[in-house]
Amino acid sequence: MFKILSFTALLLLLLGCGIEKSPSIKSHMYQSVNENEATLVQSGKNKRYCVKCGMDLVRYYKTSHASTYKGRDYQYCSIHCLEEHLGDGITLKNPRVVDVASLKLIPVMSAYYVVGSKKRGTMSRKSKYAFSTEDDAKKFQAKFGGEIMDFNGAREIAQEDFKHYR
Ligand SMILES: [Zn+2]
Repeated sequence: MFKILSFTALLLLLLGCGIEKSPSIKSHMYQSVNENEATLVQSGKNKRYCVKCGMDLVRYYKTSHASTYKGRDYQYCSIHCLEEHLGDGITLKNPRVVDVASLKLIPVMSAYYVVGSKKRGTMSRKSKYAFSTEDDAKKFQAKFGGEIMDFNGAREIAQEDFKHYR
């Protein structure tokens, strides 16, 4: 019985793949990008996955963050998982965030975060999307609402989730 079920699942999966011509399937989630648009900084077989929660970094790319610890690069699906890594009591170097406009990683300290817009968040009810320019952040805010703040402000909001869940 299990074999039949898994065969059906596989068949559905194959049929599903047949619809999309490009090798990567683009999800409808706002956070998702095509694989070739994503900058993945980790190495090894898990380079595509959040080091903390294991979620797919290409699917959750627009909220992705990265940092360096002891010479090794780490990447997260969200500021939430970056915060969780900091919760281990370590100092992370060179923290970066994806600029939603260019899809490049930029230093968090120069980013403008739009917090609590109508666009859904990753690992959090209050979404946090970052931009390299205030202008881009304002354009996003005009469309989807939310509040513009710096990294420290966005981090404080991210920390609220930990208080809430604990
Ligand atoms: Zn994560």
